[in-house]
Amino acid sequence: MSYDPTNIFAKILKGELPCHKVHEDDDALVMMDIFPQSKGHTLIVPKAPSRNLLDADPAAISAVMPLVQRVARAVKAATNADGIRLAQFNEAPAGQTVFHLHFHVIPVYEGVPLGAHAGGKADDAELAALAQDIAARL
Ligand code: 5GP
Repeated sequence: MSYDPTNIFAKILKGELPCHKVHEDDDALVMMDIFPQSKGHTLIVPKAPSRNLLDADPAAISAVMPLVQRVARAVKAATNADGIRLAQFNEAPAGQTVFHLHFHVIPVYEGVPLGAHAGGKADDAELAALAQDIAARL
């Protein structure tokens, strides 16, 4: 399947839709997931258009992975999480719901089960505060 430039993350990248932005540079946008699986669930969205990892340009992947690590460290520091899960889904049967490549940084708290993937919407004020706190630690 080919890349659909009308997907929701493409619209966010173009500034046509809002997001709780953590960071932006030439290669990627980092934002809070609005249906978080845990407090601090953050998305790294490479700017280069691809559906997912399978059709991505290797150069775009290598440009963004150091940022994925920085975000994972910053999220862990901001949330005091006990661990960090890195997730990335490729095509609908594997759980992908937005067809523009992105990496999930999901804080895991000892004894707290993760919420459903793309489950309930988080409070905007809480997401804004988290975005600011994570950005300060990047
Ligand atoms: P996927 O299932 O494609 O790997 O992940 C898509 C993620 O995007 C889900 O975790 C979902 O909660 C999140 N999501 C869906 N719509 C929006 C949106 O409009 N804004 C943000 N920030 N996240 C979204």
